[in-house]
Parts: sequence; C-alpha cells; structure tokens
Amino acid sequence: MVGTGPGRRLRRALALTALLLACALEAEARVLLIVVDGLDAREVTDEITPMLARAWRTSSWCPGTRSRASMPTRTNSNHATLMTGVEPEMHGITGNAVWDRRTRSVRKLGTASDLETETIFTIARREARGLRTAAAVGKPKLGLMFSADGTRQTPPDELWDARAASDASRDEVTGYAYDATTLVAARSLVEHAAADFLFINLSDVDRVSHGSGPYSPQALETRRRTDAALGTFLEWMATRADWKSTTVVITADHGFDAITNPPIRFAEALNANGLRGLAAVGDGGIGHVYLPPGTPDGRAVGLLSSARRIALETPGIEEALYRRPNPSDGGSVHTITSVHPDWHIDHERSGDLVLVAKLGWQIVDGSAVEAQLIGNHGGPAERAVPAIVLGGAPIGAGTGCDDVRAADLGRTVQACLGLPEPRQLDGRAIPTAALGRVLTGICPTPTAPPVTLP
Ligand SMILES: [Zn+2]
Repeated sequence: MVGTGPGRRLRRALALTALLLACALEAEARVLLIVVDGLDAREVTDEITPMLARAWRTSSWCPGTRSRASMPTRTNSNHATLMTGVEPEMHGITGNAVWDRRTRSVRKLGTASDLETETIFTIARREARGLRTAAAVGKPKLGLMFSADGTRQTPPDELWDARAASDASRDEVTGYAYDATTLVAARSLVEHAAADFLFINLSDVDRVSHGSGPYSPQALETRRRTDAALGTFLEWMATRADWKSTTVVITADHGFDAITNPPIRFAEALNANGLRGLAAVGDGGIGHVYLPPGTPDGRAVGLLSSARRIALETPGIEEALYRRPNPSDGGSVHTITSVHPDWHIDHERSGDLVLVAKLGWQIVDGSAVEAQLIGNHGGPAERAVPAIVLGGAPIGAGTGCDDVRAADLGRTVQACLGLPEPRQLDGRAIPTAALGRVLTGICPTPTAPPVTLP
C-alpha cells in the first residue's frame, strides 16, 4: 500500500534520520593498522613478546592466526599490499628494487609514483566523507611511498616519518626512527589529528634483525622492547573515551631468515658461463633476471633457458621460474603462475626469470649494502606473520582463519572504514583473485538504530 500525505512524509523523514544515524555510527569507527616491520610469526612468543603473544592467543578474532605476507617478502611490496588491499601484480611494487626496462638500470621501487593502485589514503579522500587519515612511519621511504603524487595519489591528512625525528631519536646509519619515537608521534596523531585511520610502521625489529641477525641477543632484546613499547601505547589507547569504537590490527610485512652463506651475485654466475645480455637484480631471498627490451623471441627463449640452467647449478638457489611460458624448456611447467599460483607477481617489473634463494642465502646483485646483512628476507619462507586483532570495538570470531593474506587485511581495513574497493589508476579492472577479501569479524557492525516505521 502506498502511503499518503503526512504519513508518507513522516516515514521519509524517519528513514532519512535512520540513514544519517547509520552514517554517524559508521563514521565513528576508528582503525589502527600497526606493522611491526620484520616480525616473523615464529618470533612471537610468551618469553620475548608477552604482550603480543597474549593478545594473539586471546583475540576473539581468529586467535593465533598467521597471515601470509605477499611475495616477494620485502618491505615495500608488503606495505603497498596492505595500503591498497591488492596483490603486487596490480599495485606494481614487486619488491624493493627493480631493473627499469625503460632506463635499463637498477633502481629502488616504492615511491608514490610507482604505485599503480589507489592507497587507502587516496580512496578516503576520493570518497570525500570527511574521513581523516594519518600515518606515523619509522622508515622515511614509507613516507615517500605515501606522499602526494599529483592528482594520482593523496597522502594521509597527517604524515609523520623519521625525517621529522631528532638525530638522537633515529638510527644514524639507516635514518630509521626508534620505535619509542614513532609511538610518541602516533600518540600525538591520535590526540591532535582525530584520525579515523592511523597507520603505524615500527622499524626497530627489522633494522636490528638485518644488522645483527634475527636470532641474535640484540634482535631478541629489540623484540622485547618493541613489545613493551607497543603494550604501553595500547594501554594508553584503552584509557581513551573513543577506545570503544577503536579496532587495532597488528601484523608484519615479512619474517626473517638468518644468512649463513656468502652472498649470491647471479650476474657473476652468468658471466662465468659466458652468458651475456641479461640484467640481474637481487632482492634478498629473491632475484630477478631481465631480458633487455626488444630481444627477439627466439633469442629470449634461449637466453632464459640457459640462465635457468645456470641458476639451478648455482649454490644457494632453490628455484628458477619463468614469468612467461618457455617453449624450449617445458612450456608453462616452470612458470611462476603454474608453480606458485598464490604469488601474484605477474607484472612487467618482475624478472623474466625469478630466482628463489635457499634458506640461509641471499641474492645481492645491484645493491651495495645487501651483501653486508646477516639477516634478510624476500623468499616464501618469510611469509608467515602474525595477524592480531584487538580493540574496544566489538570483534567477531572470524571465519577462514587459516587462509588470511596481506591483501585481505588491507582490503578489510578499508571496508571497516566504509570505503569502497580500490581502483587501478589507469582504469583497468582488478581481477577478483588479485583483490583482498573483506575478512569477517574484524569490522564492528553498527547496530541498526531502533527506528520503527509507523
Ligand atoms: Zn620490512
């Protein structure tokens, strides 16, 4: 029956009120995403990291769940995955380094202009609902990743990175801020920036694990201190009136491997075998081998199959996989997509041949510093990271707890803030397999306002 006159107007007014109330409730949600850089799931223990271990074990959402970092397990690729909610094959940050096919040189990968998908900060601004976003990152390079890029990417409303820290508050070699400093900045953003979304990167565990090895007394002590500092921060958060609408997601961008063997320089292995014309880039546990643009197909196939044979004879290399099927070597049998369909790194910035180092080894082509590291990461063995959800907002039990990946956590955080799916900056559609899923139980579901229509 169609309502008439005043009755219909009243119902419309009430429906509008209900909608506004629902929006108000939605806008109240606050989400913190905290990345403890380099915290391997295996290193979250009652002995060393009691706060995190307890929060992980007792969370009502998927207790003890491990998330799978995206491949390669590098800082830049995983921060891009968490901030976009899509896999590297879409956002284009396929590691920390790349051989640029246009300039034919090695370069770092991970500035705002390298990102090919909207970040959560860009989506929030596009939606123009007044959501406020902020970030406090211990690594200056993450400040660059989430900076403005013309009209393509929007930075957080408030961005703090280690460049703003005093000399005494950051490591002099890396320039990374100490966690205590980053958390002071985060606290200030909570108090003064009224952020609905706050991203925090804590870099101490990563920095010390690289320099001293992940199982060194220094790394253990650093994990202990970071756990304690984070515990103090969360206790403070819990005293605030807005805690009841706050959800905190804690995870890591990758785990760690202890390097016990000499560094692999794959270009030297290629040279020693007389194979010329390929470029090699190391990225810790992963290596990329590139064909120069314009290599004729027939020559490309031969070069790559020779490189793969050399790789498999090189000490410390576990796997060598093609980006495209190689008719002279098994067709599609040895492609990344057929061997590791869940890696999602089919992007032109990935090598035409991708190498995986064995445990205890690292590939260092093109880097002056990687060879010095005694802890590193990049391969599939460093994918297991904690996924911990806590907070004052209601948290559900979760489903599919054994199948959580970084892209899912990224997309879920967006959804908790009521944000739509990310878009590719060039307008391409994002395939379902490359888009993170919204995980159940993490986002508080606002109870519908009690409105009864007459
Ligand atoms: Zn990292």
